[in-house]
Amino acid sequence: MNVSYLDNNSTTPVLPEVLEEMLPCFSQSFGNASSIHSCGRRALAHLKLARERVAALLDCLPTEIVFTSGGTEGDNLALLGMINPGDHIVVSAVEHSAILSTCAWLEHLGCQVTKVGVNANGQVEPESVRQALRKNTRLVSVMMANNETGVLQPVEEIGKIAAEADVWFHTDAVQAAGKIPISVKTVGCDLLTISAHKIHGPQGVGALYVRRGTPLRAQLHGGHQEKSRRPGTENVAGIAGLGRASELARGGLSDGSVARMAALRDHLEDAIVSLVPETRINGKNAQRVPNTANILFEHVGGDALVLALDELGVAASRGAACTAGEADPSSVLMAMGLTGEQSRSSLRFSLGKQNTAAEIEHAISVLPDAVHRLRSASPFYWSAHETVSR
Ligand code: PLP
Repeated sequence: MNVSYLDNNSTTPVLPEVLEEMLPCFSQSFGNASSIHSCGRRALAHLKLARERVAALLDCLPTEIVFTSGGTEGDNLALLGMINPGDHIVVSAVEHSAILSTCAWLEHLGCQVTKVGVNANGQVEPESVRQALRKNTRLVSVMMANNETGVLQPVEEIGKIAAEADVWFHTDAVQAAGKIPISVKTVGCDLLTISAHKIHGPQGVGALYVRRGTPLRAQLHGGHQEKSRRPGTENVAGIAGLGRASELARGGLSDGSVARMAALRDHLEDAIVSLVPETRINGKNAQRVPNTANILFEHVGGDALVLALDELGVAASRGAACTAGEADPSSVLMAMGLTGEQSRSSLRFSLGKQNTAAEIEHAISVLPDAVHRLRSASPFYWSAHETVSR
């Protein structure tokens, strides 16, 4: 059975062009990029090209790119590398666990953390960031696009507020890269995280943009790779893949492929809302990345619906892949005012460049019946409807 893979915010398939770029790094260019002989120099050439390609995606200098093992490491490095015990950090309540868990660790180390909330659309109000600032605030970290809802945060305004207060600003752009144009200059950030496997690159590699002059402390200790900001022999093949994926992601913003994906996402949302009663798009009134639909199916167990859809050849998810399978409700949706039950009844459909119209039609054709079957078997559904008719 062909699968309609609608879980691209969890991970994306590696594009053939990306794999092609990576393969020589395992054979002809297998050298250590720090070696001065020609084998090493060949590996180094891959790193140089990848650095230029990532820098072009983010509109920065190649020297401002630090390669990492992915989004989680980039977020950890940005926070742990900037904050000292006694410092204060401001983050949003809807950040990825790579930020929120790092903040919990920072609190343990004697730092202060303020989490600013979001409105019902899932957006941070920039003024709430301003109000959260203290004398000892060292860093503000607010994501560019939310991984569960796709909601875009007003990062440019937040960047201005941070700059006025002379506070460093980090943004997690893992879910924004390749979906909207990114310029670190326009955003006004000092640090920005991306991850290769969200843009059709390989898993386990990413990059942190570090604006020239930002006093980032390395969190690993060893050699002088990445200008001592991230020691360790580089993952040359992975980085080459990230570079090519970045180049393709940049091209996709203007060649119509992102626009096509947006049209398919909108069609999926419109069809589901019109065909399935008691559904709602979470974050609908906010600006969102063009690939993500987060939909509340009242009185349906989200995990049960994910499994039912899987049987029918549709891959979706109930939220972040890192927390999938956890019984806890989504803290992102709860921060937007949904109840625990509503958050457990919400599913994320995230499209990729490769999805076809036929795959979307397939999802639309099987969803109404799957929801109906689960609702028919749910005592919560029946009790809710008895209450209404009484
Ligand atoms: N930040 C966001 C917003 C994400 O969606 C993810 C992954 O889902 C990460 C960080 C972590 O990235 P990685 O899987 O590369 O560690």
